[in-house]
Amino acid sequence: MTPTLSTFVDDLKQVIGDADRVLTNPATVARLSRDFYWYSPVLKQLLSDKVGDVVVQPTSVDEICAVLRLCHDQGIAVTARGAGTGNYGQAIPLQGGVVLDLALMDAVECIHPDGIAICQPGAKLSLIENEGRRHGWELRCYPSTVAKASVGGFLGGGSGGIGSVAHGGLRDFNTVRALEVVTMEPEPRVIKHEGDAIHEILHAWGTNGIISRIWLCLTPAVEWAQCVVAFPSFNEAFDFSEQIATSNHWTKRLVTTFESLITASFSPIRNIITPDKAHIFFMIAAAQLEELQLAAKAVGGEITFAAAYEGLRTSPLLSDYTWNHTTLWAMKTDNTLTYLQCGFSPTTARSQFSQLKARYGDDFLFHIEFMKNSDGLVVPGSIPVVRFTTAERLNEMIDFCREIGVTVANPHVNNVEGGGRYRQDHIQLQAKRKYDPKGLLNPGKMASYLVAEDAN
Ligand SMILES: Cc1cc2nc3c(=O)[nH]c(=O)nc-3n(C[C@H](O)[C@H](O)[C@H](O)COP(=O)(O)OP(=O)(O)OC[C@H]3O[C@@H](n4cnc5c(N)ncnc54)[C@H](O)[C@@H]3O)c2cc1C
Repeated sequence: MTPTLSTFVDDLKQVIGDADRVLTNPATVARLSRDFYWYSPVLKQLLSDKVGDVVVQPTSVDEICAVLRLCHDQGIAVTARGAGTGNYGQAIPLQGGVVLDLALMDAVECIHPDGIAICQPGAKLSLIENEGRRHGWELRCYPSTVAKASVGGFLGGGSGGIGSVAHGGLRDFNTVRALEVVTMEPEPRVIKHEGDAIHEILHAWGTNGIISRIWLCLTPAVEWAQCVVAFPSFNEAFDFSEQIATSNHWTKRLVTTFESLITASFSPIRNIITPDKAHIFFMIAAAQLEELQLAAKAVGGEITFAAAYEGLRTSPLLSDYTWNHTTLWAMKTDNTLTYLQCGFSPTTARSQFSQLKARYGDDFLFHIEFMKNSDGLVVPGSIPVVRFTTAERLNEMIDFCREIGVTVANPHVNNVEGGGRYRQDHIQLQAKRKYDPKGLLNPGKMASYLVAEDAN
């Protein structure tokens, strides 16, 4: 440790008042500087040597303020960390400095009778789901990393997941009712954002404020069931899944459609997978389970699994194989595989599928996640599993997708703009200029940010 760093660490211990929550052991700092960036072979090369200098674990908003005040004063970078399950190197510090690990601020303060959960940023989504269900509510949407991911990290870097077929993404339909943010200023402020102002902070990767408290809107809990249906071809599976996903008749939380080569990698649930068939994984209202099975059989589907859902500990938990967990399973069996994040057209998806198949064959495997868009239309989103050979070929795949009208949020870039959730009204950038005038929060991740000349 350099003398300057050692003095800074002493200062940190003083403002935190508990040396045990200022971590400098190199292996610990390295571990808490990582996320799941290695999903991308491109990011793996770019980011594997990036680490913070020290990890601080605040337990209160006052402590966050104290750390930011010190870092602002000394010009030290601060990168917020929830559970570190992000995929794009979002939580990896590019310029060293402090990793602000919010894992100890993990309380669900209350579940309000009108279904609003008030939480600290490090609260696990699984805790909110479980607490919510005890009060008759549940999360509107959650990532497949629900067991580990924090609510602050979901707001900072996530987008949607299980439940999005009914409730849209995290940014939609006022799901995030309000949040408080600590600013990186000489005297940090705690600012409450409500209504449209939340979009200043959502999916900004912690570049423009530290989320310190969240008001999250839940939805009335449903008694769910899980069901797997196999079809001879992907097209037949897609037709049936689309019918269920887009019809208001069905109460569903998950509709995921896979090509057969993908489900072959789901080794722990091999007993419910029929080789060489395409599969759909459903979470459906228990009251509609029987009706769903009859509907599937009527169009040639084979039910390979159907059972009650008893919360996140249900085994098998189908959501463990969906959203970006699918990529993980595929990569486990073949490490030349990676992924893209695509949006297909609700009207011409089938033609887009055949154009991609004709060009890339088994190097582009379909994994469809239906989700409601901000206009209320249920559309086929996708996290296709693709074979990586070179960065050029990956970029060529992305270009071809865009050429045929398939949108791509590129998971192989390490900035907010490239990842596909950057707002075209630049509201996140304007917030960075307001709340982080020295550009110290997760520096390097908001590409369009230029430090104002007079700020430093
Ligand atoms: C197997 C797998 C499956 C996944 N599935 C999904 C999915 O279904 N849907 C989805 O949306 N994502 C998914 N992800 C990505 C990731 O799990 C989610 O985005 C998750 O919500 C991140 O939470 P986290 O606590 O791990 O955040 P982290 O990775 O710790 O942080 C994410 C970003 O938010 C910032 N941040 C963290 N806390 C704060 C804070 N308090 N204030 C400001 N900024 C903060 C960090 O700096 C970072 O930029 C998946 C990832 C993996 C590895």
